[in-house]
Amino acid sequence: MIPRDTVDKIIEAARVEEVLGEFITLKKRGANLLGLCPFHGEKTPSFTVSPVKGIYKCFGCGKAGNSVNFIMEHLSLSYPEALKWLARKYAIEVVEKEITPEEKERLDERESMLIVMQYAARYFVDNMNNTDEGRSIGLGYFIERGLRPDIIQKFQIGYSLEERRAFTNDAVKAGYAPNIWPRPE
Ligand SMILES: [Zn+2]
Repeated sequence: MIPRDTVDKIIEAARVEEVLGEFITLKKRGANLLGLCPFHGEKTPSFTVSPVKGIYKCFGCGKAGNSVNFIMEHLSLSYPEALKWLARKYAIEVVEKEITPEEKERLDERESMLIVMQYAARYFVDNMNNTDEGRSIGLGYFIERGLRPDIIQKFQIGYSLEERRAFTNDAVKAGYAPNIWPRPE
């Protein structure tokens, strides 16, 4: 694990305009810099970099973040890999800390929870869009309330079926949950 103070040092050194400037041409526009977004095809620049805030934002596709996020996205690297890439660039020594069994357990649990949450999100979204009940009750409700389909999709709004054990059954079948749940009475 990369120690917190090393992470801070890397983020401080990795000036957003300098890191991004290596990959895209940026032109000064007031306090900001402007360029063509590398994440979606565009002819008119809408990719804005704020050196003061240390962030970028594309007003075309919505991609945003700091220099670490940019390296992750642009070079398809994980968070620690992106940090190490930047550390090399700025000659910052990274001494990785051995993680304790407790830390490992915490990280594993966090990762497991994320996997389960992603699975659950997909499940409920799928329910709403691909079942008769979901479409007529769930989707119908949101459309009636005036939510646009792209917003419903963006926020991954889903629907829980009336059947009480539907999610558990699906999760067990898909191997995401052990089959230890009591049978319905
Ligand atoms: Zn973009």
